[in-house]
This record gives sequence, C-alpha cells and structure tokens, in this order.
Amino acid sequence: MDLRLLLLWIPLSLALEVTLMNTKQETSDLKWTVYPKADGQWDETSGLDEEMTPVRTYEICKVNLPGQNNWLRTNYIRRSPARYVYVEITFTVVECASLEHAGRSCKETFNLYYYQSSTDLANDHFPPWLENPWVKVDTVAADFLGRPGGRGVSARPNVKTLRIGPLTGAGFYLAFQDQGACMALLAVRVFYRLCPAVVASLARFPGTVSEGLVVSAEGSCVEGAEGSLGRRPTMYCREDGEWAKPAAGECVCVAGREEKDGRTKCMACPVGTFKPDVGEMPCQPCPLNSHSSAPGATVCGCKLGYYRAPGDAPTAPCSTPPSAPRSIVAHVNGSTADLDWSEPLDSGGRGDLYYEVQCMECAGGGPCSPCTRLSFFPRPNRLVERKLRVSGLRPRVTYNFRVLALNGVTERSGVGAMGEELNVTTNRDVPLPVTGIQQTAASENSLTLRWIPPQPPSLSRGNILDYEVKYYEKDQEKPLMMFLKTTGSEAHLVGLRAGAVYVVQVRARTEAGYGAFSGDTLFQTLSQDPERAQPQVGLIAGTAGVGIILVIAVIIVAVVCVRKHGVNKDSEYCDKPPQYLIGHSTKLYIDPFTYEDPNEAVREFAKEIDVSYVKIEEVIGAGEFGEVCRGRLKVPGKKENYVAIKTLKGGYTERQRREFLSEASIMGQFQHPNIIHLEGVITNNCPVMIITEYMENGALDSFLRQNDGQFTPIQLVGMLRGIASGMRYLSEMNYVHRDLAARNILVNSNLVCKVSDFGLSRFLQEGSTDPTYTSCLGGKIPIRWTAPEAIAFRKFTSASDVWGYGIVMWEVMSFGERPYWDMSNQDVINAIEQDYRLPAPPDCPSALHQLMLDCWQRDRAARPRFSEIVSSLDKLIRNPASLKITAAREQHGTSQPLLDQRTPHYSSFATVGEWLQAIKMGRYEEGFRSAGFTTFGRVRQITAEDLLRMGVTLAGHQKKILSSLQQILPADKASAGPCY
Ligand code: AMP
Repeated sequence: MDLRLLLLWIPLSLALEVTLMNTKQETSDLKWTVYPKADGQWDETSGLDEEMTPVRTYEICKVNLPGQNNWLRTNYIRRSPARYVYVEITFTVVECASLEHAGRSCKETFNLYYYQSSTDLANDHFPPWLENPWVKVDTVAADFLGRPGGRGVSARPNVKTLRIGPLTGAGFYLAFQDQGACMALLAVRVFYRLCPAVVASLARFPGTVSEGLVVSAEGSCVEGAEGSLGRRPTMYCREDGEWAKPAAGECVCVAGREEKDGRTKCMACPVGTFKPDVGEMPCQPCPLNSHSSAPGATVCGCKLGYYRAPGDAPTAPCSTPPSAPRSIVAHVNGSTADLDWSEPLDSGGRGDLYYEVQCMECAGGGPCSPCTRLSFFPRPNRLVERKLRVSGLRPRVTYNFRVLALNGVTERSGVGAMGEELNVTTNRDVPLPVTGIQQTAASENSLTLRWIPPQPPSLSRGNILDYEVKYYEKDQEKPLMMFLKTTGSEAHLVGLRAGAVYVVQVRARTEAGYGAFSGDTLFQTLSQDPERAQPQVGLIAGTAGVGIILVIAVIIVAVVCVRKHGVNKDSEYCDKPPQYLIGHSTKLYIDPFTYEDPNEAVREFAKEIDVSYVKIEEVIGAGEFGEVCRGRLKVPGKKENYVAIKTLKGGYTERQRREFLSEASIMGQFQHPNIIHLEGVITNNCPVMIITEYMENGALDSFLRQNDGQFTPIQLVGMLRGIASGMRYLSEMNYVHRDLAARNILVNSNLVCKVSDFGLSRFLQEGSTDPTYTSCLGGKIPIRWTAPEAIAFRKFTSASDVWGYGIVMWEVMSFGERPYWDMSNQDVINAIEQDYRLPAPPDCPSALHQLMLDCWQRDRAARPRFSEIVSSLDKLIRNPASLKITAAREQHGTSQPLLDQRTPHYSSFATVGEWLQAIKMGRYEEGFRSAGFTTFGRVRQITAEDLLRMGVTLAGHQKKILSSLQQILPADKASAGPCY
C-alpha cells in the first residue's frame, strides 16, 4: 500500500513520548564535560524557566576572537529499545550585530553531534574533540535572535527537535559545538516515540516503538474473534507515534458473537437472538417458532413441536408437518380411478408440501393387503399435484386409498404424516386383459394383428364396445406411442418403418370401462432389402412365435406368482423381472456394470464438480479406497455446504477406479430423504473424489454406542422408520442393498438416518480384508446381517434386505451391541438353521421385537415388505403407549430366543465393581462404593432413587442397572441351544 497515504489517515490514539534525558528534571548540577577546560567556555548556570521552575542551563559568549571550537558533551544516554530518538533543544542566540564587542567571526548557529558506544567510556580526551569520530546531526540556527537588554540577554527561546539514528549501540553521547556564538542552552530533552497498546478493529496491538517512516505491528484477535483472511491482523505505527489504519487480515466475531463498543469487543448474542456464522453481521432475532435460551447462540432451536428440514438454513423459521389433505374424491372408470383432493388447511408454514398415496385392497371379506399390482400415474409418492390416476383396478374389490400430506419436516417430526382415507369399491366388471395377439399379415410398413376377445365370466355385464391398441417401436430412446381404436378383434397398423420391431399392447372396453392392457408382444415389419426379405419371414414367424410364447410366459409367471404368494405379494419374490407384471410406476435402478463403459454410467448419474469449489478440512474416517474427509462445497450462486469427501488413494488400478466410482453411479440414481445424497464426483483431478452430503453424527452403530441409553424408544423408532422408508424406496427401485447394517447408516445432526454404502468392492472375492465380510463361495458376505438363503445360495433380494433390516432394528434397540455378541460366524449360521433368533434387547418394546422376528422368517416370502414395515412403525409412532409394553423373555412365534450373552447374571461376578464394568456401567463404581453398595446383598435392594442420589441420572443407565439385577438366573444353561 502507499505509505504516503497512510500518513494522512486519522490517528487512532495519541502518541506516547518516552523520555531518556531531560535537563529540566535534573535537580543538581548537570556536570557535562566541556572542552577546552578554560574560563569563559561553556558555563553551567542555574536559572528559572518561563514557569519559574529552577533549571540548569549552559551559556557561552566568545564572540570577539576568531577560531572558536568549544565543545559541550552530555553524560551517557541509554537508548532503551529505540532505534531512532529525538533531541528537543530549547535555546537562545544573541544577534551578532547587536553585540558591541563581536568580531567578524561571531556566529548565530551551533552544531549538534552524537557518538554511539556500548558502555559509558568517555573521559576528558575520548571521544576526541574532533568532528570525526562524532556523527554530525545538524548545524542548528535560531529562528529568533535576542538582543542584550537591561537584565542580560532578552530573547525569545527557540525550540528545535532533531532526529538521530539509526542507533545500534546501547547508548550515546550528544555534543554541542560552539564556534563563536553568544547563546544559552536552556533545556535539552531526549526521547523516543511509542504507538501505545490499543484495541482496534477487534484486535489487540501491543505498544510499538516508532521507527523510521512506519512500522507494521502484528496484533491478535480479541476474545471471541478470529482472523477473516487467515492472516494475523496488522496495523502501522507512524513515525509520530500514532497508529494508522488500515489493518490487513481483519478480525471478525465468531458465530454467536457480534461486535460492540466501536469494534473493540465481540459480545455474545443476547438471549432470543443468534448469529449463525463468523463475520461482521450483527446478531439477528430468532426466526419464527424458534428460540435461544442462553447467550451466544449460533442457531435458534425450534420450539417444541416445530422442526427444521435437513436442508433448511439455520435462519429459516421452524415449521410443522401439514395437517391432513381434505375432501378426497375418486372418479372410477372401469379399471381406472382418478383421485383428487384439496390442500390441507395448515401447510405447516412451509412451501414444500407434497403427497403420498397408500393403497390397500380388500377382496372377498379376507384381510386387506397392500395394492401391489396397480399402476399410479404420475407416481404414488412425492406428488406435488393434488391428483393421481390409478389403473389396473379389479372388479368388485374395495380399495382403501389413504392420501398423506407431507412436507420437509414430516420425517424429522417423527410422528408420521397426517392422512385422509377414502374407500372405493369397484362393482362392475371390466374386461380381462386381451390375450393371444397374433400377426396375420405383414408388409414393409404395416402389420395386421388379431387377438382372442376376453371371455366370460368377467364379461357378465355387457359386450365389448371396442379395443384400444397401443404400439411403439422397440429400442428407441424416446419411443413415439401410437394408439388405434377398433371395434373388432383385429387391427391393421400402418405407416410403420421397414424392418423395425414394434411392441404392441391391446385392451378391451365395456360399459364398465377399460380393462388392463395385455403384456408386451413383439412384431416386426418386412425389410426393404429384397436379399434380406427371405430370412426376415422366418424371423417374423419366429417373432410371432416369441410373441405368443411371451404372452404365455406372462400368464404363467403371473399365475405362478399369484398362486405362490397371493395377490398381495410384491414382484420382488418372483424370479422374473417385474416389467412383465401389470403396472410398475417407479423408475428402476440401473446397474452401472451393465454399461459397456462404466465411465459412461458415472457421466450419466453423477455431476462432475469443479475441484476449485471444494475445500477439504479434516479427515473423518477411513473408507475402502482411501480417506473420508469433511470439507465445504461452494458452488457459485449456491449456499456453501459441509460435505463428506471420499478419496481414491494414489496408485490405484483402472479396475479399482471403476469400482470406487461405481458407488457414485449407484448413489446418483437415488433421490430420497433417507438415502445419502450424492453431490457429485471429481474425476478430472487427482485424487478422484466422491462428494456426498455431510452427516454430522457419522455411522449409526458408533453413534448409538456413544449415546448408550440416551434416546427414548420413540426416538429410536423414529430412526428405524427413516431407515425403513429409505429401504422401501430402494426396493421400489429394484435395488438390493446386500449390506444393510447400522455401520452403513449415517446420522445427521437432526438424528435423521440415511442409508449409505453402495460400494460393491467388499463383496468381491479378493477385495477387502475386513473380518465382518466372510469369504463364501462367490463373494464376501457379512454373515450376521445376511439372510440364510443369501448365505447358502446367494439369493439376494429385497426380502434378504428385510432380514438385514431386522438385524439393524436389533442393533438400534440395543444401542449398537454386536449382533450375536461373541459367537463365531459358524455358530450363528448353525443357530439360525435351528430356528434360534436374537432375543429382545433390554427394554425393547415387544411390538418391535415381534417385527424383528417377522423379518427373520426362514421363508423369505413370509417376511414383511419394507412398505409394511414403514406402516407398522408409523402405527407404533401414532400410538406411543404401544411402546410401553416391553418384551419379557417369552418365546415369540416359532423362533426360540438365544440367551442374551451380554449380561451374565450378577451373581457370577466376584465384586460389585466387576459386575458394573461388565454391564458397561463402570463409571458409577465410585458412586456405588461411597454410597455403601459394596456387596450384592445390598445392591439387590437398590432403588431408582438410590441411583439418582449416586448420580445415575440417565434413564437408560438406571434401567440397565436395575434390569441386570432383575435378571433371573438360568436354571440350565445347557438347554439354551447349540450356540454355547
Ligand atoms: P465408508 O467408506 O462409506 O464406509 O465411510 C467410512 C467412514 O467415513 C464412515 O464409517 C463414517 O464414519 C465416515 N463417513 C462416510 N460418509 C460420511 C458422510 N457422508 N458424512 C459423515 N461421515 C461419513
């Protein structure tokens, strides 16, 4: 910066002058050294200054003889820390012309010198009385000259200040050389200047000796402030001892504090206000429905019953889930129903309202089951519009539609969404799907098709009015759908492309409306190339055959599925891909390894992020391929966010790079509040990185272990509900996770749980060395979390994910305990084979343990689906009293419980201390001892009040201790099963 400008700035504080020598303050003779030593030389006299204070002065008046060389040397002056000092001389000089006896050599000036030395070494001869070795400061001339008067010399005193330096020795002498002047030295003051210690711009600067032109001084931020540019704050101390701004590297108040008193303090934000970030902005009042109860808040917590969504800024108001939607109406037309409804009265104070439609079908007086074979348009969840078309309804069935209103805080509130129900009964027959579509003729641009009209009994009401034929060209990225209506059971499709394969579906309409479309049937037009025309005929015939076979296959698959699992079972339990069944409205997951070039999958599903937008801050974990770090992502025009950054360590092979990035290609296909969100990838730079949202509380298993006993059952169920909702979404996308476990669930600061870990590498045979994953034929398997059919013959389905989910439930309800404790993997496999199952964790609500046991059914078709798990958990959340019933050690269903190995009976311990250590309550050992609970005889009598008095304040810990004491000694351990 321009230092000349600096000198013009307004000073922040007044300069300090530190005096090194002042003749005015001397109370006795100065006894300076004069040369030559003769009368009439420099003469020390006493006098009074203008304030009538006695002072020591030196006078001389040798004006009549030429060749004067009269020296007067001060005593030794220590320079202290100063490199430059100032000499202020007060003196009078008599005008030569006014002196009668003055010769031509009379002078009106004198010279000032200095001599540096490290000690006081001067004497009468040293330093020599010569210009060299002295350093000349200046020849000093008087501004005002005096004249001899009645009472001696009357003259106005001159005051001159001269700077000397740079000084390096410990001290110096000054010398005044007279060469024939008539003058008096009235006072000599030597000082240096100091910019005083100051607090400015939220930084504290120490007292700084002024030097030369300007000196830069480094300061330190005041309490509650930090450097904004990562540099130490700096100010400039001017030559005149005054501070000048600006400072480089400003200090700013940290989050929760604001600047006060002219930028000298950072004060905590008062109660009711907050400041979310470091910076100059002041504290702001808490947003609507939030409050801060202590000074210094960086965020205002939501008032009871109000929430913020995970993506809400801390400055956003808190809001509530919406009330239920109103006035649901259904317009039924044959196998189709159009539902619409009105907005909820209360949107919860948010603008991100959306709806979810759940459907149960109740046929023939039997129990109702979820609708699995209906199509929903545009989709059954995340609906922004207030209408939905449902197709594929069957006649004489009652459908129960429940429309739920949700918004960004519904998940967070943990109480489930408010819904409104409507029952719709279809009472008239719609036609059965058309079957047996055949080709009767084909040309280069047309196809003639015929089919079998649907037969009674489903046609008890009315004849077929017409058919609708839907057809489009196969393997087109965005095929053009074409429709044709015909009254007979045949159609002539024209305007087709030569040699192209067409997908055809047909549906019939009666008075009751349209029936469902037939399955996909493929037909091909003739090729234009005459040479290829012949074989095409064969192909067409073959294709027609394939078409028929497909139709038959569809029927067989559908029949097998329906027979095997009843109408309410999801396609995930069938071995055929679901697109042959009626209606599937959700987008399906695409395996990135089906791409010829997996990099293509990365480009399709993951955004490339510019490396300059990412700032890595600290390592937070170790991933399969490299470190996992926390950092910040600032995309221009968007809010800065914390992110997690997975890196691929150097020296990787192309295959490892592909496997590493496959996780991003998978994650990038998912958009759900309970699935970890992919921000993007960095593949153009080294190291290669995957960037995801940051989850403050890390992995669920360790988070629960750190907070053992500190969450209520309703909070735990809220977490489980989130995980189930994420898994429901994955299963709807036909994605099978294969490694559902608490270690692969991440938790954010709002306790929202998200499914993560979509990497595949650890399943690969020669991949990881993690002992959790055991090598089995065909890959690695986390035995304790895996369903028996997946271990035995690698049958991984959403139903095997449900098994894993049951284990996650157990992990959550036992605050991160290891499933099956210390049992070996082989013992676990044997125990499961013999129908032993994990017992309820301590204090686990029975309903939850029952749900776990349902997830662990040997027959995978009998396990609940994720949508059913979500509904069951929602019911429990809506009825918290149901969570009060805890599982005793009773036997559930057909499964036998394993004996809980974690809490051996207290009587098997030698001391109370050992027992407390074993149940992980060792921290209270001292409390037990000082309260006198040193024997089991006494400990058995302990009450919750005693525990409170001893400082066991956490309800979870009290329960743990009391339930361990209530544990019944097993009569015969050998009867507990083969796991011992
Ligand atoms: P992973 O490779 O996904 O198993 O990650 C290894 C560890 O890094 C996890 O156990 C977490 O502790 C941490 N981690 C991974 N992803 C995140 C995230 N998005 N937010 C916070 N921590 C994470």
